[in-house]
Amino acid sequence: MFVADVMLAKVARWLRILGIRVESPELKDDGEFIEYAKENKLILLTMDVELSKRARKQNVGIFLVPKKNLEEQLASILKEFSIPLGKFPSETICPKCNGELKTAEKKDVEGRVQKKTFEEVDSFWECRNCKHVFWEGSHTGRIRSAVRRIRDLME
Ligand SMILES: [Zn+2]
Repeated sequence: MFVADVMLAKVARWLRILGIRVESPELKDDGEFIEYAKENKLILLTMDVELSKRARKQNVGIFLVPKKNLEEQLASILKEFSIPLGKFPSETICPKCNGELKTAEKKDVEGRVQKKTFEEVDSFWECRNCKHVFWEGSHTGRIRSAVRRIRDLME
């Protein structure tokens, strides 16, 4: 749905955690970036005013992300496009590569995560694309509280 510029790498990663597809291709300049958005029919996310003006001139969908803190930026994007907050973590997209996550059987992740993690955790997810394994861990608690704050900001 979106393509984010390098300045918004963190926002892109978080949008994926929230279940929203965001591409972050490595492109060499603004021109290529605008072309990429146009060809793939993606909405461009940037904080760069000049880039947003150029994109608008070429009729490329663009959202100028406010220079605020991360949670406010995320809330503003969700609000602008009327995107409901997904069910974390079941609707999460791979934060690393924008791939689709699927639930993984415990036996299938043996040897792919640390022994301690394997012993303590029962729910795993795997990226269909990069094969990275994710699980409910200490950081998911932090994500949950951030998701609550984003929800509050959207109201
Ligand atoms: Zn992945």
